[in-house]
Amino acid sequence: MTATEIRQAFLDFFVSKGHTIVPSAPIVIKNDPTLMFTNAGMNQFKDIFLGEAAPKASRVADTQRCLRVSGKHNDLEEVGIDTYHHTMFEMLGNWSFGDYFKKEAIAWSWELLTEVYKLPKDRLYVTYFEGDEKEGLEKDTETYELWKQYVAEDHILRGNKKDNFWEMGETGPCGPCSEIHFDSRPDNERAEVSGAILVNADHDQVIEIWNDVFMQFNRLKGGVLQPLPNKHVDTGMGFERLVRVLQGKTSNYDTDVFQPMIQFIAEKSGKKYNSAAKPGDADWNDAVAMRVLADHIRAISFAIADGQLPASNKAGYVIRRILRRAVRYSYQTLGFKEPFFNQLVPLLAEQFKGVFDNLFEQKDFVQKVILEEEIAFLRTLSSGIRRFNELTSVFASITSVEYPDGTIKDIESGRKISGEHAFELSDTYGFPVDLTELMARERGFTVDIEGFNKALAEQKTRSRAATAIDTGDWIVLKDDESVEFTGYDETETIAHIVKYRKVTAKGKEQYQLVLDKTPFYAESGGQVGDKGELVFPDGEIILVTDTKKENGLIVHFTDKLPQDIDDALTAIVDPALRSQTNSNHSATHLLHAAMKQVLGTHVNQKGSLVNADYLRFDFSHFAKVTDEELAQIESIVNQKVRENIPLKEERSVLYAEAITSGVTALFGEKYGEYVRVITFDDNFSKELCGGTHVKATGQIGFFKIIAESAVAAGVRRIEAITGVAAEKYIVTQNALVNQLKELLKNPKDLSKSIEGLLDENAKLKKEIEKSILEKSSGLKTELAQKAEVIGDVNFIAQKVALPNADAVKNLAYQLKDIVSNLFLVLVADFDGKPSITVMIAENLVKEKGLHAGNIIKELAKEVKGGGGGQPFFATAGGSDVSGLDNVLAKATTFIK
Ligand code: ATP
Ligand code: MG
Repeated sequence: MTATEIRQAFLDFFVSKGHTIVPSAPIVIKNDPTLMFTNAGMNQFKDIFLGEAAPKASRVADTQRCLRVSGKHNDLEEVGIDTYHHTMFEMLGNWSFGDYFKKEAIAWSWELLTEVYKLPKDRLYVTYFEGDEKEGLEKDTETYELWKQYVAEDHILRGNKKDNFWEMGETGPCGPCSEIHFDSRPDNERAEVSGAILVNADHDQVIEIWNDVFMQFNRLKGGVLQPLPNKHVDTGMGFERLVRVLQGKTSNYDTDVFQPMIQFIAEKSGKKYNSAAKPGDADWNDAVAMRVLADHIRAISFAIADGQLPASNKAGYVIRRILRRAVRYSYQTLGFKEPFFNQLVPLLAEQFKGVFDNLFEQKDFVQKVILEEEIAFLRTLSSGIRRFNELTSVFASITSVEYPDGTIKDIESGRKISGEHAFELSDTYGFPVDLTELMARERGFTVDIEGFNKALAEQKTRSRAATAIDTGDWIVLKDDESVEFTGYDETETIAHIVKYRKVTAKGKEQYQLVLDKTPFYAESGGQVGDKGELVFPDGEIILVTDTKKENGLIVHFTDKLPQDIDDALTAIVDPALRSQTNSNHSATHLLHAAMKQVLGTHVNQKGSLVNADYLRFDFSHFAKVTDEELAQIESIVNQKVRENIPLKEERSVLYAEAITSGVTALFGEKYGEYVRVITFDDNFSKELCGGTHVKATGQIGFFKIIAESAVAAGVRRIEAITGVAAEKYIVTQNALVNQLKELLKNPKDLSKSIEGLLDENAKLKKEIEKSILEKSSGLKTELAQKAEVIGDVNFIAQKVALPNADAVKNLAYQLKDIVSNLFLVLVADFDGKPSITVMIAENLVKEKGLHAGNIIKELAKEVKGGGGGQPFFATAGGSDVSGLDNVLAKATTFIK
């Protein structure tokens, strides 16, 4: 079976068992502070498990793109070294939301593997949870009994909490699980050593392929386990591992999932890929590097396609780190001195066509982003490697030293890169510390991570304070309340608090409240959260400073809790802020549509911000948007504003139908089965959007672009304002023009008149320069004649009437050319500011040890000033012109 057939067989099988196939969620997670990237198929269903959202269907199945490079599940260090852990992989899964449980899950897993895929039963092992006394968790006897119907007892193994109790992260849904492992060793090896003892022992031929999780608990902060309202099934099967065992391979990289990519890399690098290479073999490093490249391109491409650009912090930095790791292998191991990594994108995009189309649709953009990152890192990579070699060379071949007294000491401890050096590599050469660690490991070195963190922390005390947030557990006041958003229809709603929690950030206490009904819009889709107030019957008013979404909940931020927490309250959104925000949001849709008309359909939204003050729109486009294009875009939008197009809001359209009707959906956004469609003119702007909008475009009033700039490779930004803000902007600009006109005595043509002024100014400047030059050359002869011979020195000390420092300097240099043995002191008065210049012939500097820089320091005291310079030329300024005569008098003392 090909990989494509294997994937399809999985989905078909679960359809035959009554499951609905759902799309993969994006790999990048938004609105969840506990998780950056999707690390398992269950993430997108987290709120269903927690009882915070209702499932659309009680049985679903899918293939989910996952990334395990940070947090609780991080496999980055294994990738390329072993043959079955990837950064990005597909997780095939089937789910029951409060429907079937262990019995069916186990029966179907077995049926699919042994009857559909026809895997040999004697190579399969299954596990069950042995229980954990400390946590008060029981042994999962039920699972054991169920497996006994299908599997020989010596193939059913007990597993501990580490392997058989699945948790998504530090908090969240969890439960006991049952894994299925496959032993792909040759028969003779299997006869010698039973596979049973190699399960979960990091043997690369006895690997876990599937995990059936029985979700029963929610792990709270602090470790407490709380039973979930319903029991669920969550299974996850590694697609690449499944393909490997079905295709009879011993490495995931030998399957048709990875071979095309590996062969492409091998061909371009002129090296052979040896799948069987072992550590220490000559071609081991090449094999690792090729696997790393073939793997990492998937993680990076899908992260970018789902909206996470490489950046210098948070999730963006995780992506940049992986990218730099790949580029280092490509440059140093495979010998690509020019950007190469990005060239893998088209092949990958082609491969995932029909599976995850979002990559194919954006392949040029993704490739461009990676190329720019590569170019930037390659700029410092080779000097960084040189520095790294320096830091590791001294001790590289020595492991012990002999002292004069004959004792031999191990210097293992010397084979360590200090924290400061690791920080230098990161700060100066852009080596993420895990890359330094990886390179160090290759040389038998370690890195002082503690020291590195210290150095980093010292540099970043500010941002460290910002991330110190402590979130308490929810205190539930009312159970089983479904949360309703009323804000599309009204800005005032009567409601109750259903739960709340305390959050401490930067030493400040805040509260987060969830209401049963609320008109407050929670920040999402670029639109900021609503502000407003909660008014209680006893007159108490609690201000809402922000509203955010968390796992589908609408969370209101307040500074305090009300006296009567159980009372009905009136939730009131600040109407002025909301209405301006509406204008800016609707204008963003018009802008997006206008840009597609003017710039082309490749323009895709890459980020946006909509608040009451302005709107910001980031989009993929490869060139600066010209002034003409901006004017054209602006004019189309304003045309649409004047047409006063009424808002068409459809709250519940089938996603598939919406897409066929031609709406604009955003990449990396997770859409449910039903979506909300916002239309302004069926033939102009149709977008999937959850935001709030004007009732008709006329409310926007007026639209004005105020800036266009670059934000990242292939991404540009437009900032614009609407309504009152746009009006104010125009009024201010107009006032400025009027002021200018007045200053110029109301000319007929303002710009012509300014041009005239500039011309005239330039002409005058030239004339002045010319006359100064004439004056100083006249002065030159005059001063040369005034030179006084003192011993073997030609001494000149004069006050000159020149207007600026350049003119004086010029004169000094000219005098030096015509007067030998010159000792020159010139003073001048520039509009009340004293100036002193000292010039000494070079032979005098040498022979007499005179130093203009030192002399001028003394002289400057007379004008209450200071200065300095070289031995033969120095200048000084000051604050007291009346001292200039004293300067001249003092000058002679230095040679007499
Ligand atoms: P392992 O112990 O092999 O790391 P796991 O216990 O971390 O696996 P689960 O969290 O149970 O795995 O994930 C479910 C399935 O996803 C696994 O059975 C495996 O087939 C697959 N899987 C997990 N991690 C990876 C990875 N990094 N690359 C490829 N497939 C993976
Ligand atoms: Mg793992």
